[in-house]
Amino acid sequence: MSGGEVVGVSLYRQYRPQRFSEVSGQSAATEILTRSLAGSRVGHAYLFSGPRGCGKTTVARILAKALNCLAPVAEEPCCECRNCQAISAGESLDVVEIDGASNNSVDEVRELKTHVALAPFSSKYKVYIVDEVHMLSTAAFNALLKTLEEPPSYVVFVLATTEPHKVPVTIRSRCQHIPFHSIGTRQICDRLLKVVEWEGAEAQPEALWEIARQADGALRDALSMLEQVVCRGEGCVRLEDVEATLGGGSRPALERWFSGLRRHEGASFTEMERMMAEGASPQRILEELFALVRNLWLVARWPDLLASLDVSEQEREFLRAESPQWTEAVLRALMSRLVELIGQSRTGLRSDVLMGLLMLDVSRTLEPAAERGLRPGPLEPSRGKARASSARTPPSESKEELASAEAATPVPVVASERALEPAALREEGGANASALPGADWVPLAQDVCEDLLAVAHGRDFVLYCALLHGEFRESEGRLLLGVPYRYVYEVLALSRNRSLLAELFARYEGGVFLRCGERMTSCSPASREERPGDSASDSGEEAEPPRTPLSEAGEDPSDDGGGSLPFDGLVREVSRWMNGEVVLVKRGLDEAENGTIPDEDKDNE
Ligand SMILES: [Zn+2]
Repeated sequence: MSGGEVVGVSLYRQYRPQRFSEVSGQSAATEILTRSLAGSRVGHAYLFSGPRGCGKTTVARILAKALNCLAPVAEEPCCECRNCQAISAGESLDVVEIDGASNNSVDEVRELKTHVALAPFSSKYKVYIVDEVHMLSTAAFNALLKTLEEPPSYVVFVLATTEPHKVPVTIRSRCQHIPFHSIGTRQICDRLLKVVEWEGAEAQPEALWEIARQADGALRDALSMLEQVVCRGEGCVRLEDVEATLGGGSRPALERWFSGLRRHEGASFTEMERMMAEGASPQRILEELFALVRNLWLVARWPDLLASLDVSEQEREFLRAESPQWTEAVLRALMSRLVELIGQSRTGLRSDVLMGLLMLDVSRTLEPAAERGLRPGPLEPSRGKARASSARTPPSESKEELASAEAATPVPVVASERALEPAALREEGGANASALPGADWVPLAQDVCEDLLAVAHGRDFVLYCALLHGEFRESEGRLLLGVPYRYVYEVLALSRNRSLLAELFARYEGGVFLRCGERMTSCSPASREERPGDSASDSGEEAEPPRTPLSEAGEDPSDDGGGSLPFDGLVREVSRWMNGEVVLVKRGLDEAENGTIPDEDKDNE
């Protein structure tokens, strides 16, 4: 058969398996059926459940043939006799296919009952295949139940559904339930290859893999995609045609994009533009990218898995070469970020905005901390530490702290949060800043920012983390710390932290100001006298109601103990996975009893 003839009958119908042994990826189901055929223990009702396009109806038809075949060969239908041929052609009067979605009323099921009562016309069995059976109405189910309770000996029902839990238990209990599985990418790929061979066509392996990946376990979908691609390529299956048919964003394209971005190639930007122009939906790109990053992570985490992943050779090569370039933490952070973006893609965010966020996230993740602007990421502590002239932490302790910093705030998470930051917030902030009397706020130079962070790092780790979100500006001897998130602002605005900030940044004689959107407060030098941790006296000018100090550990300002606790063990792990942040730490009973710790703070992340 030549490629040109494809157009007439769909590939899916043309190459529909005719025997149990030809069915892809459902060996468990076909085995059960052939065994019961062999032992003449065929039930009167089966429930086939499984994802769409995985072969339920096909197997039901093969079963019908096997039951009625005049010359079966080892439980397989011969496909030659008149019964087999009539069933294959869909002309048998004894095999009735009903679409549960469109024939779901009680009247139709009653009609079916009358039909069931008639003896078979020309075969041994009458087989009723009810597709989408979960769509039947309750009344229809009740009518069906009556039939299932006392079926004539010559009747076999095959109820097929993608959602078995929606089939009433009374029905299910009368059926033999046979689960079908989503078909693996490799199995789909193998089947596609066979069909291509039968068609006398040619195919690039990567093109078939791409189709198989897109089909997501549904062979029927894969075959109909293959058909379109074959038509387009005039008998040849090429990756470019697959991309054109599916709308861009194939795995190889995303791989190129991903590693191009790592190498800071500007071309990766145009590559994404091209994918979008080809009509790839942002959601699909994000989902594909998630699968790609997940595989990279799996391989980075457990290199031995590489051999057993259900991926093409080209993908395997990509994973082998690319995974050493990434750290596990970065990949994990990217995955969580992608999950968020997938959520956002469903809210109808403009695709270019969404993709911009994505590019920003990935590239920020890749940038060394220094290039990222104000934040020497905790992964690059030496930079900050070297300048931390005022750091009082003994080296050993600070090492631990850095280790916990590294774990607690993986750079990419911080980076990605920043990317999430709504542009409006920043704009608004800018306007607000200039509203301060005489303010002509100038962003601080990078190394100055780093100095400030280093000072904070040397003194109070939690403060340092909170400031990582900040944007620092100055004007006439005043320092403005802008933070994008309300909860970060609230932490910094705690009286203990405000006085600490004023103390740390005392070199700004005009004062230190905190801002988040509309909200602004000052950390006046006057409060410098306060002992950190003395939450009872709240001297902030426009202060919030006194809130719990982030850490009550700071009785001794040189004691950095408050820094490490919030990021220990479970808390650290949970906050990392939830993309969260420790905002409040309650310590010891004494403090709780003397009332310095209000019982609140549940809305923080
Ligand atoms: Zn036959």
